[in-house]
Parts: sequence; C-alpha cells; structure tokens
Amino acid sequence: MVKVPTTHGHDRCAAADAVVADAGQLPLPWADASPRLGIVRRLQAGWVQQRAKALLAHAHQRSAYYRRHHAGWQPADGWAALPPVHKADLMVHFDDWVTDPRITLPAVRAFVADPQRIGTDFLGRYAVWSSSGTTGEPGLFLHDGQALATYATLVAGRGDAGRLGAGLWQQMALRGGPAVLLVATQGHYAGISFWQRQARLRPGLAAPLHQLSVTRPLPELIEDLNRLAPIFLSSYPSMLSELAEAQGDGRLHIRPALLWAGGEALADAARQRIEQAFEAPLGCDYGSSEMLVIACECAQHHLHVNDDWVLLEPVDEAGRPVPPGRASHSVLISNWANRVQPFIRYDLGDSITVATSPCPCGDPRPTITVQGRCDDVLQLAGGAGQPVRLTPMTVATVVEQAVGRLRFQVRQSAADTVSLRLALADSTQPGVDKAAALAALRSLLDEQGLRRVRLRFDPQAPQAEAGSGKLRQVVRDCKARDSTRSAQAHRP
Ligand SMILES: [Zn+2]
Repeated sequence: MVKVPTTHGHDRCAAADAVVADAGQLPLPWADASPRLGIVRRLQAGWVQQRAKALLAHAHQRSAYYRRHHAGWQPADGWAALPPVHKADLMVHFDDWVTDPRITLPAVRAFVADPQRIGTDFLGRYAVWSSSGTTGEPGLFLHDGQALATYATLVAGRGDAGRLGAGLWQQMALRGGPAVLLVATQGHYAGISFWQRQARLRPGLAAPLHQLSVTRPLPELIEDLNRLAPIFLSSYPSMLSELAEAQGDGRLHIRPALLWAGGEALADAARQRIEQAFEAPLGCDYGSSEMLVIACECAQHHLHVNDDWVLLEPVDEAGRPVPPGRASHSVLISNWANRVQPFIRYDLGDSITVATSPCPCGDPRPTITVQGRCDDVLQLAGGAGQPVRLTPMTVATVVEQAVGRLRFQVRQSAADTVSLRLALADSTQPGVDKAAALAALRSLLDEQGLRRVRLRFDPQAPQAEAGSGKLRQVVRDCKARDSTRSAQAHRP
C-alpha cells in the first residue's frame, strides 16, 4: 500500500502563488492524473503538479540563474522544453543559483573547510553537503528545513522502517546496542552530515549513534565493531562484503538486526553473502547529495522512485528521453522538496533503467535499477604477504578530500604497485594537487600496513570507460587480479 507522504507546509510567498495560479497545467512526464490511476496516484499527480509549479515559480522569483536560464520559456512550451542544468555551470554561478542572498560560495566553502561543523547548520538553517558523484568537479549542496524534514520522513516511512516494520524496531529496542555508520567521516558528505544532524536533533531516538571511519585499517574496525556490538550497521557494499567475510571466519562476531548499504552498486550475489553471514536483512536505497532519498527498496528488493518528491527523466547522450526497459546515458532530476538551491532538470550523471512492468509488491510507484559506482576493490600485499583490501569508496574519498576534484584514477597494476592519474589540465595548482593526492594516498597505504606498496604518479589523464563514458576512479587491472589471486592462494 502506498503511504501518503507528510506535507511540511510550503513557505510560499504570495507572488509565487500568483505565478503558480497563472501557470495552468504543466505537462509533466508522469503526472497526468488520468482515471486509470488509482485514487492515491491521482492525488499524488495533483501534488506533483503543484510542487513542480511552486518550485518553478520560486526559482524564477528568487534565483537570477534560473531566470536567465529559463528566459523565454512559457508553461505552454511544456516541461521538456526547460533546458537541463549541469553541476559545473551551476557551481560557476553559485551565488545566482541559490535563492537566499545571504548564501555565497566563499562562505559555504569556508563552512565545509571546517570538519568541526559536519552536521551543523549553515546560517543556522541549512544543511550543506559536499560532492559526491562519480564524474566532474565536486559540488556544494544546501538543503532547507522542508527538504530535510521530507528526507527524514521518506527514510522513516518508506525506507528501513517502512519495509521491515515496527517489529524490527521493537527487536532493536529489546536487544539494545548502538547504530553504527561506517563511512567516510572526514568531510561534509551527505551520509555522515545527515546522520550527525539527526543525532543532534533527536538525542533520545532509538539506538545511540556511533560513527567509524572507513579509512581505518580493517583489523581495527573489526575490533571496534566487536566491542560496540551494533544492532544496526550501515556502510558501502564493498565494506559490508569485507565484514561478511570476517564474520564468516570468526574474526568478527556481531549480531545486527539490520544492515544498510549505500554509495555503490549492490550486486545480488554480494547481498546474499552479506545477509547469510550476518543472518540479518540488508536494506538499501538510492540517493545523492542533490536529493537524499530518490528511491527506496521494497520487500522484493526493487527500488521504487519517490516520484511524489522527485522527478527522474532518463536521457540518452543527446538528452532525448529514454523509454522504460533501456539503460539511460544519464538522468535529469528535479527535487520538489528543496527551495534554497533548486534542482530543476539537473543532470545527475547516473545511468538508470526504469522497469517496464509494475512491481509484484503492489506499490504502483515505478521501479528502477541503477548502474552505480562499479569501481574495483584494491587487493594489495601487506608486510607479511597477507592480502589487504581497500574499498573503492575509501580510496576515492581520500584522494577527493586531498585535491577537491573527482577526475582522478587510482589504478592497481600489481599486488604491490599502485599508480595515480590526475586531470591536471584544469587545475590552477597542478604541482600542489599532485603532491597532496600522492601524500594522502601514501598516508592511507601506510595506515593500512602497506608501506611496501609502491605508489607512483602516472602522467596520463584518467581514462573513461570506452562503452559507458563513465570514469571509474578506482581500477584494478587484469594483471593485478591474476597476481593477487595467486597471493590469496597462499593465504594461511
Ligand atoms: Zn516493489
């Protein structure tokens, strides 16, 4: 059954309301409100129309960027005539993009430069999340109170609690133990920032919250997890796979009631292994720094789009619509919940496929599959020859933090050799960036007991995949796969 979403009272001004009233019907891709839709879907179609029109009116009134970008557009032209927006262009025009004139790019940059402020509110009212994405330059994203309340409602109502029911929470309360988030904790990333904000606002909620940094060595993390005995554990699929292996061979012995995965693609085989190792269900959702809760998983493991709060338009290389059943080149998203930094037909860069038939679970919202980050786990030889694995999110986050850019590539060519490629052509300080990235990677390798692993700089530019055009940031070359496989064979 579809849950009716909580509305949070739009902070609309009278002028914006007038524009909305004048705009008439705005032909959106799905919100046709036809009788073939059930009553709840017809209601939702109406809300979506209102939310879309209200956001457009607000953007045209308060954002100089959107006024220029949409100049000449009329509602009668239709939604699809609105030109898409791209992160690089929006970041150049940041101060014109945001709808609160007190927000400036230098001020937001200064805010995210301070790790003490992770999870706190900028100007006392906005969450700020930096990056991420798998291509291009990092972005800085602000979310207002209505947006944050919407994300919290979606997480609680359609995510873990919605799917797994109240029984799970009762079990968690009875068994006790903390909730642990094991992610990149050193930057203002959406996951850790939203988590810390929720913990700050709701100190008495459910289980106590702990965070662990994925950049720490695996044996230390295992020790901490054994000590903490989490009832809930959330991390990247690649890290949960590592932990499942440790649970299988007895190094790790925890009994979480629920596991949660995000940030990377989750393969069915990996899900099965993780669920079997921990004897607990694994949930996942699909979100980004631009819209935290784009789709939530149902009991059939299908991702249902929260299409009453976000519009997804799959597109091909030329920006043309891609029909259900075919993988898109990218996807344009529009986030109806956030007013402070409007995302209207924003090119997210992810490839998605919309399902051609309704989900057997009965929820009429469309389902998608996402071709997410598909980077490799690095498998390196430790000091005593033992294999040490580094998850792609860990490696990518360390480099991204060091140089503030996403166009780089860490490649493993042998069990003891790693190289770094950086797109230095667009850097204003190539020497500094190169030194910072190498130092950050060296420090990570040393921390993980990989002092013998050679790290070299490869002057080639990062290479995008021939087929998809996507840039994989962390790659293990075939030769390295073979040499590591033989190293693993010698594992005691
Ligand atoms: Zn379903």
